[in-house]
Amino acid sequence: MAYVREERNEMPMYKGEFQRAAKRRPIREVLPIPALRSPPAGHQGSSIEEAFASDPRQLPPEERQVFRWQGGETAGLEHLRNYIDSGQLASYRGATESFAHGEDNPVNSGTRLSPWLAFGCLSARMVVKEAREYERKHGKTSSGKGIGKIGSTGTRLHTELLFRDFLRFSALAWGTSLFKIGGPFHVKGLEWSHDMELFQKWREGNTGFPFVDAGMRELAATGYISHLHRQCCAAFLVRDLRLDWRMGAEHFESCLLDHTPDANWGNWAYRILQRPCLVETRAKYPVEEHVTTVEVVAWPAVHDARLDHTLRWCPELSGLSKDLAREPWLLDTVPDRRISIKPYKDSPLWFCAANRTNWDYEYFWLPGHAWTVKPGKSEVQRSDFQLGKDYPRPLVPPLNVELDLDALPVKFHGWGTEPAVRRHVWGGRKQGRPPTRSDEQSEAGAPEARPRWEANGKGKGTGKRGGKGKGHQPFYPESGAGCQNQWQKRRREADWRA
Ligand SMILES: Cc1cc2nc3c(=O)[nH]c(=O)nc-3n(C[C@H](O)[C@H](O)[C@H](O)COP(=O)(O)OP(=O)(O)OC[C@H]3O[C@@H](n4cnc5c(N)ncnc54)[C@H](O)[C@@H]3O)c2cc1C
Repeated sequence: MAYVREERNEMPMYKGEFQRAAKRRPIREVLPIPALRSPPAGHQGSSIEEAFASDPRQLPPEERQVFRWQGGETAGLEHLRNYIDSGQLASYRGATESFAHGEDNPVNSGTRLSPWLAFGCLSARMVVKEAREYERKHGKTSSGKGIGKIGSTGTRLHTELLFRDFLRFSALAWGTSLFKIGGPFHVKGLEWSHDMELFQKWREGNTGFPFVDAGMRELAATGYISHLHRQCCAAFLVRDLRLDWRMGAEHFESCLLDHTPDANWGNWAYRILQRPCLVETRAKYPVEEHVTTVEVVAWPAVHDARLDHTLRWCPELSGLSKDLAREPWLLDTVPDRRISIKPYKDSPLWFCAANRTNWDYEYFWLPGHAWTVKPGKSEVQRSDFQLGKDYPRPLVPPLNVELDLDALPVKFHGWGTEPAVRRHVWGGRKQGRPPTRSDEQSEAGAPEARPRWEANGKGKGTGKRGGKGKGHQPFYPESGAGCQNQWQKRRREADWRA
């Protein structure tokens, strides 16, 4: 496909329409790799080697990095060959399939082709050709049995690459609006903060939310994080810290090995796309009461189920049980109110906080409630770990999300070992989701299908949503640590002046 400037207004707003149109067209042949011409006179041989030897310098090796890229076409082709030959395509999960939860979609999966694609070392056409050839020889597979996008894994890779094209063409159509505060969708009605202290904490991975912090630390140290992490860290900056999204995009730009303006700024622009009537809903349910990017607590439960990735980047949490390391604020808080977190229906959460449009069937393991917490003496005490000293307290009031442990789409996980703080985790059959171990036991007449958490109560009726008119309480009054949100500050200042 080619971009025609005069037809830019016909560029679809959503990727699906673009992808359907693109898939109807034949893919042009991959061009042969051109033979290199010799360098211009005066730049032969040793002068090029000398230039490379002096600068850029090699970064010290980062031991925690699970994969290292080597620049250039030769290395890119080799990586593509190895990826295809190893058969990994058969279980491929695309970057944007973040809604497909479970073992076959761990937080750091993906082809890792993006830096080579970004620098033009590999062409998307070549990748699709290789994927198709593999499927012709070995047959097609579809990981995830109908959950997620339809089509074989090779088709999914093609779909991801089309999203790349979509953003590239869209960026041409959007023009400079891509870099303006309202973004290409001209978002209005929201106030953005420029609080440098908050921004610095996000950049350094000191937000107090381990999944976000792991991503931000990995990004700074290696220049790469997976799509899941990019979505989550970006959504947290936009929706919870309420910082100007362009600050986040600039930071990503300064770190990412695979940076391209269309992919980076385009993906960020989608993070500020609002659900209809969001501004009104936010007025009704003041957002500063709790974190709204639920993924920061929910995703590690299924995409980093033993917390290996998070703990690699947040080693200070390694001594805690997995439950506590995922939600360390449980050490000095107590549950407050049980709230609904179903997006788009009855909660103030953003539409598409990351990808939550398929909530009813993709999130069957989230029963739909979470607990706000308030400072208090927790039932779990650790003498060797102090929140606020060994690891930061959360920058915005956190949530303790109810997980249906019996329904989790991961076989091996680290959750449920701290019953004292897990009173609200429960199992049980819900309409529209596959039967779980506990359902099967119930049907077989097992005496105790759901005993573990019920003993502690589900919290039914433990309070209603707080909402309009409920005065905001500083989350950590003694340190003010939880009150740094500029939005909250401004609100409190306004209250005080009135
Ligand atoms: C806030 C944010 C910023 C991002 N910035 C960039 C960026 O600067 N450069 C970049 O290449 N990708 C960017 N992405 C998209 C995506 O995260 C990466 O392309 C992906 O993580 C690369 O890993 P992979 O090669 O293993 O992906 P795979 O899942 O193997 O996908 C194959 C290829 O498809 C393309 N692709 C997949 N998803 C996207 C997407 N959402 N947008 C654009 N291309 C996509 C990439 O070229 C990728 O290599 C960003 C995503 C977010 C949420």
